[in-house]
Amino acid sequence: TMTADQFKNFLHNVVTMIEEQKDYLCELDRKLGDGDHGVTMSIGWQAVNEKLNGELKDEEDCGKIAIMAGRTFLSAVGSSVGPLYATGFMRGAKSFQGKSEVNDEELKDFWVAFVEGIKERGQAEVGDKTMVDTLQPALESLQANFEKTENFGESFKEAVAAANEGMESTKDILSKRGRSSRLGERSLGTIDPGAASSFMILETFLKTIE
Ligand code: ADP
Ligand code: MG
Ligand code: MG
Repeated sequence: TMTADQFKNFLHNVVTMIEEQKDYLCELDRKLGDGDHGVTMSIGWQAVNEKLNGELKDEEDCGKIAIMAGRTFLSAVGSSVGPLYATGFMRGAKSFQGKSEVNDEELKDFWVAFVEGIKERGQAEVGDKTMVDTLQPALESLQANFEKTENFGESFKEAVAAANEGMESTKDILSKRGRSSRLGERSLGTIDPGAASSFMILETFLKTIE
């Protein structure tokens, strides 16, 4: 289970993590795109942080917290990840609605809806060198392990390991989408910035619940 305070802790931990990883995420995006991924993530998460310290301070409804995170991210971030992460949080919010504490099944449903929302919104597939290369293996691992064990913590740990492999796999993929598609072979050897940030978000969630 997870309480509203723990969920807000997770969001706080993402804020801190993104500040630490900002330069690295920009560096990956300088090699593949327009170099702003660390900055766009930081802008979005700083906006979320303001809500956490403001109107979300006493919020006990996990669903409302997730919706607010998504909305805030959407209005703060202009780049392609704005609507993607926003959709993830807003879709995930559905299984948290009206709950000050969520159970393992609801946590699993949150992350499944999170990933499915991003896939639907962005229409990217595995192999396109995007965050979907991180998130799809995580989703599959989470669903399979949760079905077997009904233990969210253990299943999420496996999902993070799968996400790590998925993130690493983007090094070997030629860019096919977006700005970096014109780089051709030069896109090889570099991890996709969104694949990296999405892995870090999942890893931060794992660290928060452990
Ligand atoms: P922008 O490309 O607009 O500058 P960012 O640099 O913030 O936006 O984010 C780039 C990341 O967004 C990419 O590394 C990729 O992982 C992700 N991304 C872009 N388009 C899509 C999409 N259609 N589906 C999934 N992820 C995407
Ligand atoms: Mg960019
Ligand atoms: Mg940009």
